[in-house]
Amino acid sequence: MSTQNKVIDEIFPNTLKILSDLIKFPTISGASNLKLIEYCEKRLNKLGATSFKTINESTQQANLFSTLNGGKKLNGDGIILSGHTDVVPAATKEWSSDPYIAREKDNKIYGRGSCDMKGFIACTLAMAPLFASSNLKKPIHFSYTYDEETACLGAPVMLDDLKKRKINFSACIIGEPTSMKAITAHKGYNEYITEFTGLSGHASDPEHGVSAVEYAIRYSNKLMELRDELKKRKQKKNVFSPPYSTLQIGKINGGIGTNVIADKCTLDWEARPIAQEDGEFINKNIDSYAEKTLLPEMRKIYPKSNIKKITVGEVVGFDEKAGSEAVDLVCNLTGDNSKDVVSFGTEAGLFQEFGISTVVCGPGSIEQAHTVDEYITFDQLKLCLKMLIDLKERLKN
Ligand SMILES: [Zn+2]
Repeated sequence: MSTQNKVIDEIFPNTLKILSDLIKFPTISGASNLKLIEYCEKRLNKLGATSFKTINESTQQANLFSTLNGGKKLNGDGIILSGHTDVVPAATKEWSSDPYIAREKDNKIYGRGSCDMKGFIACTLAMAPLFASSNLKKPIHFSYTYDEETACLGAPVMLDDLKKRKINFSACIIGEPTSMKAITAHKGYNEYITEFTGLSGHASDPEHGVSAVEYAIRYSNKLMELRDELKKRKQKKNVFSPPYSTLQIGKINGGIGTNVIADKCTLDWEARPIAQEDGEFINKNIDSYAEKTLLPEMRKIYPKSNIKKITVGEVVGFDEKAGSEAVDLVCNLTGDNSKDVVSFGTEAGLFQEFGISTVVCGPGSIEQAHTVDEYITFDQLKLCLKMLIDLKERLKN
């Protein structure tokens, strides 16, 4: 323990330095993350890592996948340390200080992304020199993805590329803020916008117009009906709270006034399925209701009426697996056997679907993520470093 603490003391200042460098890159989902990726790649390559990037269509965003294998030709069975590089936007005016300049106070670091999840990335980068100088028996991989916050757009692109490379992995640790607890499952997260187009007209003659608002309400009612049905569906397991799939309408926007028939309306809604079939159940039923019931009525009056459902994203759920290598590994490293499930989505389901044993465990509390004056405590960063130091010891020959 004392040598461990000594190592933590040695690398902690550098961890803070790296974290403040990372916070400076305003990598809001959708914006370019190339400078941050270049920063990470340079650091890792200097230590002898082999890196490759996968880039999105706009060429403004990249995933980085870097491998340290202790100078040997170790290809398989490595451990992936994974974090997303994007952050949610920050309403600068509401913050006590610039969200993109790290501020240190009371053993905490404030800044957008400090907790979700640049703190974890900083820990992995600060540990990289120690991994590089150890005689590892398994490779260690660093996976830094883009646009996780907008329905996990980056990770699938990287995983597609990994598939072509035919590398096998023994475990993946996703360092989302869980207060360093092992998270073994989460629900899926599906997000949609449905746009209604009707025909405007004078309110005194409603039958000659098509009210987009009224059809959006009927569509909402159908969603509410489906929500009730989801509760009744048989569940294989009920580790979640609530123990069934949920559905929620978050925003409705349409119309200009009492006496005008609205020709436009949009609904923003989400579903959190506990199993993929529930997600399919919702889509199938709501699409069929729109096509077979609402649209024919709308088009009888105005043939150009339309209902368009846009899928913002569908994040696959993360299922608890008995005897998971990744969960056992993390519990062993942290010495904490309490396992939990959460209600927020992560990239874990994607890695798991790829066939990699996966666990979510990282520094910081989810309560601080996405908030004004987001912060991470020194203690949490140190606990994460401790886990990574123990991982290094375990991977040493
Ligand atoms: Zn996150």
